[in-house]
Formats: sequence, C-alpha cells, structure tokens
Amino acid sequence: MVQDNFIVRCPNCGAKNRIPPSRKDRQPICGKCRTPLQPAAGFTEHPVEVSDRTFSSEVLSFHGPVAVLFWAPWCGHCRRLLPVFDELASEFSGYIKFAKIELDKNPATATQFQVQSVPVTLLLKDGRVVNSLVGALPKYQLEYNLKSLL
Ligand SMILES: [Zn+2]
Repeated sequence: MVQDNFIVRCPNCGAKNRIPPSRKDRQPICGKCRTPLQPAAGFTEHPVEVSDRTFSSEVLSFHGPVAVLFWAPWCGHCRRLLPVFDELASEFSGYIKFAKIELDKNPATATQFQVQSVPVTLLLKDGRVVNSLVGALPKYQLEYNLKSLL
C-alpha cells in the first residue's frame, strides 16, 4: 500500500485535496466545493499494453498523468520491476494511467523517446514527458515520483 496520502486536484475548483489511501475506494469529495473526486475515465487497474501503433492514442492523447514502462522479456531487471509496476497500477488506479511497451517490438516509440536501455519508466502529463526514471528503482522511489505527478 501507499503509505501516505494522495494529493488530488479537484476538477471543479482546482483545490488540492489530501486523500488517505484507505479512503481511495470510497468516493472522496473536494473539501472546498464538495465536488466528487471521481476517478476519470480511461484509468485502469492494470497496465495497458501499448505499441507503436497505439502509443499516440493511449498515452500521448491521454488527458492526465501516465506512467509508461519500456521493457524487454530478456531483461532481468524488467522482470523484477513488472510485478511492482502492476501493484503500483492498482494502488494509483483512478489517478494515474499505467502502460507498458515492449522495446524490441516498438522501435519507433523507443527512438522517439530516446530509450536505448531498459527498464525505463516515462512519466507524462497531458501527453508531455515530465520525467524519465531509468532502471528498476525501489518501489518507494517510484511511488515518490508517481505522487509528484498528481
Ligand atoms: Zn473543489
């Protein structure tokens, strides 16, 4: 579980709301204007598999934060990171979209984002890359960086 609170921006008034992880499933409301802070459409419980063909529609056109993992089946660090990434997708479900893309099968996207080694996790907001995390970082470091997207 994510240890501390989530900060979620209200879609109506823009106020930042602190939401304890235990209340994440319970339909939190904005403390200022009482607007329900509903998970937006398009977020999933598990990472979405994307490709050169779908990267633009699934990731770049997505309104909101996205974490994309570039990985390869031959990469040991990736195999270690994938289950962690899956856990994070579930923890941040409704707040951050998670996607994964296989490096070797999708050379155009890898080239576009200058991904030469794996694993690399790109963090995007509204289609713009805001951070690039290289290597299999410990879960707490990933959580820290993911929270900075909210
Ligand atoms: Zn509000």
